Amino acid sequence: MPDQRDLVIVGGGVAGVSAALECADIKLDVVLLEARAALGGQLTEITHPLHNVATGQFSDGQALQASLQDAAGLLGERVLLEHPVTEASLAEGWVEAGGQRLSAKAVLIASGSTPERLPEAPDGAFGGDVTYEIESDPDRFKGKTVVVIGGGDSATLDALALASIASSVLLAHRSPQLTARHDIVAQLRADKRIEDLPGWDLVSLEGDDHLEAVVLAHPATGERRTVTAGGLDIKISRDPSTGPFQGQVDLDHRGFVVVDGALRTSRPGVFAAGDVVSGAYWRVSSAIGQGSLVSRAILEFVQESR
Ligand SMILES: Cc1cc2nc3c(=O)[nH]c(=O)nc-3n(C[C@H](O)[C@H](O)[C@H](O)COP(=O)(O)OP(=O)(O)OC[C@H]3O[C@@H](n4cnc5c(N)ncnc54)[C@H](O)[C@@H]3O)c2cc1C
Repeated sequence: MPDQRDLVIVGGGVAGVSAALECADIKLDVVLLEARAALGGQLTEITHPLHNVATGQFSDGQALQASLQDAAGLLGERVLLEHPVTEASLAEGWVEAGGQRLSAKAVLIASGSTPERLPEAPDGAFGGDVTYEIESDPDRFKGKTVVVIGGGDSATLDALALASIASSVLLAHRSPQLTARHDIVAQLRADKRIEDLPGWDLVSLEGDDHLEAVVLAHPATGERRTVTAGGLDIKISRDPSTGPFQGQVDLDHRGFVVVDGALRTSRPGVFAAGDVVSGAYWRVSSAIGQGSLVSRAILEFVQESR
């Protein structure tokens, strides 16, 4: 059997790294496969200070990412970056990444999630005026009217960040109320540059090389509204990264992995941790905690199968 390990971990966000450290510490032969060139997953998307991580205060997600990479240094060659898992047979216990097939007694799915996309608004459309992340270049919206779609924490935080750059911000969301944290909502209500549009859906976009208008609909009243806008930022929800595992473990209606209390999936020897888990609390500490917790059931499984 080529490259047979005790455990293959798919995903090098905080959940995967936490599990890898814990499993290496208890002397399991582990390899972690990460699709990107760096560990950290969603941390790169966090632009605000992190005040809810017990191990320290971090000025933003990148600061926490640096700390994570430092800790992961202990793993050495057990981490393979730029190794996206493209195929897997969980029944046979192998995954394929970077042209390599790796076999293991156990597989941990820690592949997290990505921002949910709307088909009518492709990322980067209209010369980059349509975006799913403002972090890399917020100044591109300077002086423009920007429509933000979404009513949760990420969308409302973006609306607040954009308000200081854009000429005005419209926050459109399907729900009748904002679902963001109460303190963020309070800040938003105090900012006169942000107009809240509850109950509105995105219908279509108008423009040529650049975005010129956003068409919104209000299903409850049947109204339609065309808003002149030079930017569109979408932060609705997140989709699980479960592509290679479809049909091989039980997933919920949105595609998140269903697990039991020990983070075992429906297939023996396959485990899941972090944001990819159905019903997970999307927080750094929860993902780190699950990465640690899952090692107990993995160790039990590997020992039984030896
Ligand atoms: C904008 C924003 C703000 C946030 N703010 C906070 C906050 O203030 N406090 C807080 O506690 N939490 C916050 N969070 C949530 C927190 O970042 C996440 O809960 C946590 O990082 C999830 O970690 P994870 O390891 O489960 O998943 P992810 O971070 O999604 O990591 C999954 C990893 O798996 C990799 N991967 C996916 N598919 C494959 C594949 N097929 N092969 C190989 N690798 C793959 C990805 O590249 C990624 O690196 C925020 C999140 C966002 C997006």
